Amino acid sequence: MDHEERDRAEAQSAGAFADELRAIHADEAALQARKLRLLARAFELAETQKARIPSMRSRERDMPLRSLAAELGLAVRMNDRTMQSHLWDAHRLVTDFPATVDALGSGDISRAHASAILDAGADIDDASARGAYEQAVLDHARGTTAARTRSFAQQQADIHNPRTLQERHDSAVQGRRIWVTDLADGMSQLNLLTSTALAHGILDRTTRQAKLIKRLDAAARRDSMSAPVEGDGAGGDHVARGEDASTGAAADDTWFDQRTIDQTRADLVIDLLLTGSPAIDPTLDASPGGLGAIRAMVQVTVPVTTLTGVTTGGAELDGRAPVDAETARRLAGDAPGWDRVMTDPVTGIVLTVDRYQPSAEQKRFLHARDQHCRFPGCRRPARSCDHDHTQDFALGGPTEICNLACFCKRHHTLKHNTDWTVRQLPGGTLEWTSPAGAHYLEDPPARVVFVPSADPPPF
Ligand SMILES: [Zn+2]
Repeated sequence: MDHEERDRAEAQSAGAFADELRAIHADEAALQARKLRLLARAFELAETQKARIPSMRSRERDMPLRSLAAELGLAVRMNDRTMQSHLWDAHRLVTDFPATVDALGSGDISRAHASAILDAGADIDDASARGAYEQAVLDHARGTTAARTRSFAQQQADIHNPRTLQERHDSAVQGRRIWVTDLADGMSQLNLLTSTALAHGILDRTTRQAKLIKRLDAAARRDSMSAPVEGDGAGGDHVARGEDASTGAAADDTWFDQRTIDQTRADLVIDLLLTGSPAIDPTLDASPGGLGAIRAMVQVTVPVTTLTGVTTGGAELDGRAPVDAETARRLAGDAPGWDRVMTDPVTGIVLTVDRYQPSAEQKRFLHARDQHCRFPGCRRPARSCDHDHTQDFALGGPTEICNLACFCKRHHTLKHNTDWTVRQLPGGTLEWTSPAGAHYLEDPPARVVFVPSADPPPF
């Protein structure tokens, strides 16, 4: 076989791969359309159940959808909150963007294209405007990537949406919120969703504050070079002993701020959020301190050997994010508002739980055992959970550990207001049963997480 033949054969193979991949993508898209239609039908079922509920209270009217989201979510090992938003998206796509679902079903676009069309067009309330928007974006989407479809859809939504920017902003700003995304290496990302002017205002203010710190620091460096002063070394963690490299002259008695502008801005925001008092404080007149007196609170689990410095095995925050040993030791020092849960690093058994402000023994035990809400897949921290009697107290259920469990508001109400049931097995295991009769076992979180690598524990 000469070179030309080989090249031709390889090109044919690549072409065959592309053809097969195209076919797989079309099948995938068709399955996605099928799933959307199923979820939309399920959503309709919940709407029918909701229509029978006489109460006008929104939480009670939400119960059929929540129960259904839990039924479907656990069936495919998905968090029920996530499933609920999938149900809502499917309903919106099937009812408001039918041509998009058809295009997905015939393999013309992918699910990511459909998401782009829904996201950008979701708040076009006028049906004919929405139809014109959908058609314009679909024509474009068939020939391009999902990412390009997303930006094109945004432009088209602006063109076709009869609502003014002001109207759209007024409803978008209702969604303002903060949330945390846990990352690797004991780091987390704090997200704030707010209006553009405020977000840029926050960035601008902290930038100018950070620049002032930098200017003052530079001035201090200059002073220290012309007239060395007796420095006392006062400063925070990030302040290091400075030496001026450009002149080679040692400035041994001065401490310089070596943080970058990014680090300084981040530190400023953290400082303000954790220690500052809100300017608008509706409780100010009622109680001493008001909102400013409320301190941050998290629950940290620390292996005893990490506290004593024998190991550096990670501690854990609220049973969901690892915390570095240095932070854990500092937190366990004396700060009020921190629950300290000491675990045996080998067996993982909870040794002691102590707290600056005393609370009920059982509550502390429950928080240590459950760590988070005990509905399958839910990670709401135990601290913000209710303490539920597995067997109702009114029906003779005892107030004992073997009959208590931590549930977040959502799953506590799910248990009481729908046909979901739960019973407690030995060892704190919960058995959930869905209205359709599916069973799910939920064990308490495993504590055998921190195994010291070298030395045995000092006891
Ligand atoms: Zn929950």
